[in-house]
Amino acid sequence: MEKFMLNDDVFEQIKDFNHWNLTEEQSLLIDKLILNEEFKKRYKENGSCKECKQPRASRDWCQCKFQQNFKNWTSGNHEVDNLIQKVQLKAKDYQEVLEWIEYDRFENVEYLAKGGFGTIYKAIWKDGLIDKWDFENNKWIRSKFWFREYENFPVVLKCLHNSQDITSDFLREIETHIMIPYTGCIAHCFGITKDPESRNFIIVMAYVINGSLRQHLNNSFNSTKWDEKLNILKELLFSLKYIHLNGLIHRDFHCGNILKESEIILIADLGLCRPANVKPSQNECKELYGVLPYVAPEVLRGKEYTQESDIYGFGIIAYEVCTGLPPYHDIAHDKFLTISIC
Ligand SMILES: [Zn+2]
Repeated sequence: MEKFMLNDDVFEQIKDFNHWNLTEEQSLLIDKLILNEEFKKRYKENGSCKECKQPRASRDWCQCKFQQNFKNWTSGNHEVDNLIQKVQLKAKDYQEVLEWIEYDRFENVEYLAKGGFGTIYKAIWKDGLIDKWDFENNKWIRSKFWFREYENFPVVLKCLHNSQDITSDFLREIETHIMIPYTGCIAHCFGITKDPESRNFIIVMAYVINGSLRQHLNNSFNSTKWDEKLNILKELLFSLKYIHLNGLIHRDFHCGNILKESEIILIADLGLCRPANVKPSQNECKELYGVLPYVAPEVLRGKEYTQESDIYGFGIIAYEVCTGLPPYHDIAHDKFLTISIC
């Protein structure tokens, strides 16, 4: 919930201004009346809403449209509700919206893969994502466009094992993920849902048609030219740098977690696949993390994951992209390999 609010008196003074073409006098008055910098910026960019009398967070809607709907949904978990509400009130465009999505809004749920922390499914999201508010008809306009236009909008459902007891650490992780400004280098998260049977929480993510970089190398290595290989590595490095600049460590950086959508390289599983109720620093968790060949020697020796250990993983991926072969493909991934790497 926003703490700062414009009072009605301020709204009355500015409501008839043309926010994108303010006179100098009007602009000075705005500076005097709206002391909160974020609200001032919102007003100058998006104007104010006649209904709630507050500056709009987005050009495409007013946040009060989300707020009015809060009473109509719940995840059943107070913290999840709070997170989604907070994100919705701040969202500036469709790429920043996070939704609570009822499980029955999905159909054709197909199993894709199982990992250490969760199971991945593909499904069709019947509604598609929020695009903008239709002020005339008083309803959300939804879109089925993500990289391309779909008739049946596919998504990935990442079902996290044992996430019934979701922790605030886990929620912070999701928040970090979705609050990273959209750049096209991280697999996008549309919302959260819950499996009604297992009661596990599920992250709803963008589906990538071309699949993982590993699949791409398996299928097309021989026809991939050197400039394309170098381009893959350059894009990947750009994305990893972006994650690091946001103060994050991927911790599970391997070829199966890199997605390739035409020319675009996306990093997936940005901390979302970690168990909701286990901290990564705990020893019991460490062994579960990562795929052995990509785990840096110091981590195998028991040290914490760092940004440098992500770079080690990148080095292994670079080997794979250049040779087409999975790392240590001809020997067992066991304790002897671990000792050799260390
Ligand atoms: Zn409003």
